[in-house]
Amino acid sequence: MARRLRIGVIGGGIAGLTAAYRLARSGHAVTLWERQTQLGGQAAAFPLLGTALEYFYHHLFLSDRELVTLSEELGIADRLVWLPSTVGFFAQGRIYPLSSALDVLRLGIVPLQDRLRIGLVTFYLQHVRDWRRFEEVTAATWLRRWVGSRAFDRVWGAQLRAKFGPRADDVAMVWFWNKIYLRTQSRRSLFERERLGYVLGSFNVLIDRLAEAIQKHGGQVHAGLGVETIERHEQRWDVRDSTGRSTPVDVVVATIPSPLVAKLFPQLPETYRAKLLGTIYQAAVTLLLQTSRPLSDTYWLNIGDPDLPYTGIIEHTNFIPPTYYQGKHLIYVSKYVEQTHPYLSLRDDEVLAAALSHLPKVNPAFAPDWIENYWVFRERAAQPIVTVRYRAQIPEHRAPLPGVYVANTAQIYPEDRGTNYSVRLGNTIAHLIAEDLSAGRLVPMSSPVREAS
Ligand SMILES: Cc1cc2nc3c(=O)[nH]c(=O)nc-3n(C[C@H](O)[C@H](O)[C@H](O)COP(=O)(O)OP(=O)(O)OC[C@H]3O[C@@H](n4cnc5c(N)ncnc54)[C@H](O)[C@@H]3O)c2cc1C
Repeated sequence: MARRLRIGVIGGGIAGLTAAYRLARSGHAVTLWERQTQLGGQAAAFPLLGTALEYFYHHLFLSDRELVTLSEELGIADRLVWLPSTVGFFAQGRIYPLSSALDVLRLGIVPLQDRLRIGLVTFYLQHVRDWRRFEEVTAATWLRRWVGSRAFDRVWGAQLRAKFGPRADDVAMVWFWNKIYLRTQSRRSLFERERLGYVLGSFNVLIDRLAEAIQKHGGQVHAGLGVETIERHEQRWDVRDSTGRSTPVDVVVATIPSPLVAKLFPQLPETYRAKLLGTIYQAAVTLLLQTSRPLSDTYWLNIGDPDLPYTGIIEHTNFIPPTYYQGKHLIYVSKYVEQTHPYLSLRDDEVLAAALSHLPKVNPAFAPDWIENYWVFRERAAQPIVTVRYRAQIPEHRAPLPGVYVANTAQIYPEDRGTNYSVRLGNTIAHLIAEDLSAGRLVPMSSPVREAS
């Protein structure tokens, strides 16, 4: 007979919430701790203009099936909308539309022969399913070879530099392949515009529903309580939170960034620790502007121009119309940097001041008095950097300690991190725990599992 485990989940982002929901639903006694006062991690939103908006821009792809399934299960599928998106590329001081195959042929920053090569390589990458051939080569090496150095430097190389800075040349081709492949999955045909998804009312709708469902199944959710230490006593783990309170559990699910897992479990064997500590993350700094007018007519503007030192400008209200936000325009000015980069320590007003000097390059009419409000958000572990032979350095979900499981964005592969894959991580962990319990690899408490409803 299946038996009930006491399970502690560390981290209340999408991965932790999904794992906690699945495990509570299977009848286990689940406790979740989230260090921030708000649940949702990187996908969380804050109240704004009568609704809520993500701290960091968010959309979904048509291929995000795990997240859609979870939304259906939680009764919020009617909040998902799928709308056409507009993509642009900022280079040589202007915006080039980049929403369709024809736009690639009109990309005047490189000669026609380069555009044709870019088009052909894109078409090829959209149809490759066996990504393993891209694991041992960097994107820079592979792309230079197939589109040539000029096209690479001005288009894809410029985008890689805008996201990964000095690490751009280290990014594996498998990461780049996935970016191209995924965007095709959000198009029904080559000539149709991409459609992207959004949860109307923000990701908080999903986050709140997950928290409610955990509690409905008897789980406990502690927002605003970080886990400070975890110690092994006899057959259990004692989880000590930031109030000093200790909670005994049979199983620990850590959904926090890899270096933090290594810190919580100093007794981990060296090979596993090396995998955790070997993960390098880019940080993200996002300036969100509320304006009285649109900056452009593009939703997603990639930047490949060293004079505009950002990774992207994401004009949310060119995707979800301003009517949802009391007629206001909402623009994220996004920059990914190394965790040691000085931009990460700028004050909010300094981040704004820098943007004010650059935004007229995107729209010469832009004036500071368009800005009605602004916020700056920072995330240190925003993007794990996928380098060559990355698969060999991914820490296993089953950590080499009794009853300890790890599920974080560094383990998402070959896809790039995203909310859908954090849902998948949560599902996977619940599945592994069920498997280990039935194989006798986990020692449960004595009370039997309650039936899920
Ligand atoms: C700028 C940006 C844009 C993005 N855009 C998109 C997008 O368009 N579409 C998309 O699908 N995804 C997007 N993502 C990615 C997506 O948001 C994340 O991949 C996903 O939300 C990660 O969820 P998670 O649960 O795995 O991790 P996290 O959200 O990082 O959750 C981990 C949680 O653990 C908590 N924690 C850490 N230490 C402790 C501790 N000691 N005790 C308790 N709690 C602790 C943290 O506070 C955090 O809440 C974006 C991310 C960023 C940064």
